[in-house]
Amino acid sequence: MTNELRISETNLIALAEEFLSSNGLNIAQSRSLARTLVEAQRDGSFSHGLQRLPGTLTTMSHPQFNRDADPQPHDLSVAAVQIDAQFGFSCLAAERGIEALVEKAHDVGLAMLAVNNGFHSTALWPLVERISNRGLVALSMNPTHAWVAPAGGNRGLLGTNPIAFAWPRRDKPPAVFDFATSAASRADIAMHRETGTEVPEEWGLDNQGKPSRDPAKILAGAMLPFGGHKGSAIALMIELLAGPLIGAFTSRESQSFDQGADAAPCHGELFLAFSPGVFGGAGALDHAETLFSGFYEQGARLPGDRRYRIRENSAREGIRVSSPLLDRIQVLMGAAI
Ligand code: NDP
Repeated sequence: MTNELRISETNLIALAEEFLSSNGLNIAQSRSLARTLVEAQRDGSFSHGLQRLPGTLTTMSHPQFNRDADPQPHDLSVAAVQIDAQFGFSCLAAERGIEALVEKAHDVGLAMLAVNNGFHSTALWPLVERISNRGLVALSMNPTHAWVAPAGGNRGLLGTNPIAFAWPRRDKPPAVFDFATSAASRADIAMHRETGTEVPEEWGLDNQGKPSRDPAKILAGAMLPFGGHKGSAIALMIELLAGPLIGAFTSRESQSFDQGADAAPCHGELFLAFSPGVFGGAGALDHAETLFSGFYEQGARLPGDRRYRIRENSAREGIRVSSPLLDRIQVLMGAAI
């Protein structure tokens, strides 16, 4: 990144928190969202880092957005907990729900958390990583907006539907993957539009449902799932598990709810947590390490490794932030105060 500064994690969280609270978001939501965005920035997930901060103003302008949300978890059974984000940002509700989820998963072996009615545009890995840091295997998923055509279809119906998974490791951070089930992210396609470059044909369709390499036409038409019918089926599973199963919007319903406000998608999220000892006993984690070693033996890496390397660098040298972005954040903050 050219024209950048290095800033400590503490200072960046304070800046992001002040940005949000000076724009009327309550302290608990400001703190939770600031931390999640800064974690992404710290680990080099720049598309889901501080770059998202200016867009939070658009989301907060949605007529249903609740700046004062104070979500509280609600026990449904020994293994199920639900939390209503009350139309605020979803990450505070998820953070609060995760406390109950972790406790239940340790007690019962497997637990699920439904987060309903949250505006959401953050990466998923920070929260599955936090669950896994408590010794559990974690999965999380959510719908978005109906931008993606199912395999064989010709217009948007499914979301970009991200899924994240984390596996705990002894004395090491968890193995974590987190990606959208679309062939490319919307942000990547938009970047190609800005630079005027074509994209691979399998990324999307124009508004007539025909394959296109023109990023602008795809953004106005439909994206495609990764891996043809396989990605399409996984995206469908995510719609069902994080939609009807938990009494939440599908991507199409979430898009209608937006009413053209261009806010972050508002929907539900499903978290699952498993105790690795239930079937595998004390040896489950060591058994997994043998598999992980096989990756390194062939020169492959585990998902999450790149982020952890960047995290170490951020701790040593400060977190990279582009100066123009920082200027923009400060200007918007000045306007709010
Ligand atoms: P990518 O296609 O970039 O895949 C990222 C994942 O794959 C990471 O876990 C990454 O690990 C891993 N990975 C990448 N390359 C390798 C490799 N060579 N070997 C092993 N693992 C590898 O992700 P997307 O663009 O689809 O998604 C990016 C982010 O967007 C995600 O964090 C997702 O949560 C977010 N998103 C959020 C949405 C929302 O609703 N809030 C909607 C859609 C996406 P590593 O980080 O170590 O490189």
